[in-house]
Amino acid sequence: MHVLTTDVAIVGGGAAGCYAALSLFKCGIKPIVICKGLVGKSGASIFAGNLVIGGRLLGNTEDQARNTAEFLIKYHNQFLIDQHWASRCGQWIENIYYPELEEAGLYFRRDNAGEIVTSPGKIRSIAANVQGNSGVPFMDLRRKQIIKAGIPRLEETVVTALLHNPDGSVGGLFCLNYMSGEYTVVRARAVIMATGYSDRLHTRSTGTREMSADGIALAWRAGASLVNMEMQWWHTNDIADPPTWQRMQIYPNPMLGSEKSARMINSAGEEFFNQQQDDPLAYGPYTVQLKALAKQVRAGKASYEGGYYAGFDNCDPAEVDAYTTYGKAFRQLGLQFPQQMVETAVTAHYRQGGIDVDPATMRSSVPGLYVAGGVGGHSNGLIGLATYDGKVVADGIANDLPKLNLSHAPEQDIAAEIRRLELLRRSPNKGVTPAFVKEKIRTLMWDKVGVEKNAADLRSALDDIGCIRQDLLPDMGIANQTNSANYEWLDAIDVINMIDSCELIIRSSLQREESRGPFLRQDFPLTDNDNWLAANIIKKSGNDIAFEKRPYDLPFFKPGFAVKDNLEVAW
Ligand SMILES: Cc1cc2nc3c(=O)[nH]c(=O)nc-3n(C[C@H](O)[C@H](O)[C@H](O)COP(=O)(O)OP(=O)(O)OC[C@H]3O[C@@H](n4cnc5c(N)ncnc54)[C@H](O)[C@@H]3O)c2cc1C
Repeated sequence: MHVLTTDVAIVGGGAAGCYAALSLFKCGIKPIVICKGLVGKSGASIFAGNLVIGGRLLGNTEDQARNTAEFLIKYHNQFLIDQHWASRCGQWIENIYYPELEEAGLYFRRDNAGEIVTSPGKIRSIAANVQGNSGVPFMDLRRKQIIKAGIPRLEETVVTALLHNPDGSVGGLFCLNYMSGEYTVVRARAVIMATGYSDRLHTRSTGTREMSADGIALAWRAGASLVNMEMQWWHTNDIADPPTWQRMQIYPNPMLGSEKSARMINSAGEEFFNQQQDDPLAYGPYTVQLKALAKQVRAGKASYEGGYYAGFDNCDPAEVDAYTTYGKAFRQLGLQFPQQMVETAVTAHYRQGGIDVDPATMRSSVPGLYVAGGVGGHSNGLIGLATYDGKVVADGIANDLPKLNLSHAPEQDIAAEIRRLELLRRSPNKGVTPAFVKEKIRTLMWDKVGVEKNAADLRSALDDIGCIRQDLLPDMGIANQTNSANYEWLDAIDVINMIDSCELIIRSSLQREESRGPFLRQDFPLTDNDNWLAANIIKKSGNDIAFEKRPYDLPFFKPGFAVKDNLEVAW
């Protein structure tokens, strides 16, 4: 077993983790990045299709600047956000983020006259290279910056536990390099959790192989409070089949350099979503689309598993192909582009909720444990927001560091973690493999904790989780007991995190007795701002859990109504 010592250990190598590392490094603080995949090549960040421009950037008008802020608070977070954080983030994106990216050499797509191409509308966006593929060059740049700075990386290394100091604060972590099978203890004065939010917890999900809600489970076990865990986002128009394409979206947002974008039709061929008419802010219509789809499902003209279609048959192929990757998927499926539409289905996208943080410092409720990016419960997605967190957390830690000490590695906890991991490498009983259990979890989450929920299904899902714990886990084992490149072992480690996180998601879903944005309760269909414009906080309480509500301040934007049918609320 190796023991490493550093100032700050960062868990995750996506947009948030990378920028936290670069920002700490700039302040002279020593970070190390531990990443389950490869830094800059794992997690959700590589999938970012385009980059929203905020403030008065690139000729944005005062109205467009305001629209972007309104979109973030209302359509993207349903008011479950610290509006002061959103405002600071917008200013940083305008003044620091884009200029810094251009200076570092990220190419924003230009037209023949050399002007940066934007999408039109009330909210505008740009692309790095092409729309649909911006995250890849963006994260390649981050990887190069990390390597150039000489920031140490432990890659293909999964963090399996946080370690505590004698005073209860977090003072390091335990990890496994699953390629070599070696264990490493990283002792640090602070740990930043940056494991993202696109977890593969449902049958259909935009999350990648490594996204098993580890950050949530690790932070929870370390004693951190969580918030709004029930607030799950959905893509409504990802390709239905083949299943391996479930992350491939028929992008409904405005296209770069065109007034047009995708439209959606139901099983009867009737159009039910058209960007230009149906999305009031002309950007990020995910919730608007989801509500339109829910009405079709209730009318029997679509299902969340498919039976409805999306495509660009209203567009000239040249205008789609000019600046986007969107035609490629249709052609690869052998469809005529743009004449043919493709069958689409719902996919669990990112989770808005996560670890409860103070967004001014990114401190969690446990001293020594900080958060950046999607795994935090303070805001929903977008690569710019996740990056901003990397800066805020670095500032927060720079401020706190004099008070954070390096303690001795807790030997008993380390021995217990080794025993736990070794036990997961035993032989299976009755053929119960981690892949089988993962499938069970994803199916129950899809069937009972899917787009539309109710108390009976949620309670039944909790019973299923109980059965998995009691009946399946004791038999779970793996056929291959070697310790190097053993993905089955990694799957077994994932399973435990998935079960713990799913249980918390289900319990939080039961607790929020309203519908809000993408959170649709059949038994509580109203958006209830009187009672639920509040953070739904979940904490440990002895051997059980406790919930608390914390209302949000509304300094800039307000919903303007008390109670209303959620399907009739624009956002
Ligand atoms: C399909 C899709 C499309 C999107 N489109 C857009 C878009 O058009 N525009 C936009 O702005 N945003 C978009 N987003 C959102 C954006 O990509 C994310 O908001 C953002 O990149 C999240 O960054 P992050 O660093 O928080 O997490 P991620 O990028 O998810 O990074 C998480 C990291 O944590 C690591 N990790 C996980 N568990 C462990 C563990 N136990 N130990 C060690 N490491 C671990 C992973 O390997 C990964 O490196 C999209 C997301 C998806 C999934």
